[in-house]
Amino acid sequence: MATEHLLIIGAGQMGAGIAQVALQSGLEVTLVDVAKPAVDKGVERIKSGLQKLVEKGKLDEAKRAAALERLRTATSAADAKDVDFAVEAVIESEELKKKIFLELDQLVRPGGVLATNTSSIPITRIAASTSRPQAVIGMHFMNPVPLMALVEIIRGAATSDETFAATQELATRMGKTTVTSRDFPGFIVNRILIPMLNEACFALMEGLGTAEDIDTAMKLGTNQPMGPLQLADFVGLDTCLYIAEVLHKGLGDDKYRPCPLLRQLVDAGWLGKKTGRGFYQY
Ligand code: NAD
Repeated sequence: MATEHLLIIGAGQMGAGIAQVALQSGLEVTLVDVAKPAVDKGVERIKSGLQKLVEKGKLDEAKRAAALERLRTATSAADAKDVDFAVEAVIESEELKKKIFLELDQLVRPGGVLATNTSSIPITRIAASTSRPQAVIGMHFMNPVPLMALVEIIRGAATSDETFAATQELATRMGKTTVTSRDFPGFIVNRILIPMLNEACFALMEGLGTAEDIDTAMKLGTNQPMGPLQLADFVGLDTCLYIAEVLHKGLGDDKYRPCPLLRQLVDAGWLGKKTGRGFYQY
């Protein structure tokens, strides 16, 4: 059965982005967050995202209005019954995610899918906390969701072929290109990206070049749109450190050890663009 009603838990940066793209794709969306201000912030984000598309001539006014009509909001997931597909996008806490998956287990119709947008928590572990691990899958959208073409689909140890097929179908309907990853730390993108950002940080710490030199070298020398230190600032240095630690611990190899300079910047509260200072000043 095709997905028509999508339940999204968490109306933050990612949840709102996922909701916007789903609405644009003609889906019914219920967006849930803990309290009304958080829900309202998510709705504002969606409205502003859709408005930008109208201004750019990529979406007409009638479609914008129709998209918003398909959006429902709630402060409790219990309001949404018999959904086809749920995507969890709350903060990166394993305890919280497991709690939410117990709820989703009750709310998603039999044969439906329970997906998580986690960047670092094993899908297999979240799945094992539910009564239907075969229905649990990783659906890792990239930030910002409306702009980024990729969705990594992560199959847990018990994920069924039906769950995988429904997830791939939904991502494709949302206009995304998918890749499939096995359930190991960092999945594909962060397994390769974070060590590169971490290595750029080592290069800076060792005085191999200035931040500008390192970024220009990688931008022009490897044709990347942004240098690794600037990208780390955009991702958030706390997030980079957290994922580096997940790789280090989960893979047990010292080649993934986080750079001490990265740790020091995080200790100082210089987390990148969001705090106005990281490798660069903003
Ligand atoms: P965010 O902090 O912007 O949003 C999280 C939202 O979850 C908040 O609005 C918060 O109020 C809400 N929330 C907390 N507890 C809740 C609960 N019990 N029920 C409902 N909502 C609750 O975070 P984000 O950047 O959107 O990240 C969400 C998830 O997506 C995380 O697992 C993160 O690892 C993952 N992710 C983030 C990025 C990124 O670049 N930001 C990229 C890919 C994946």
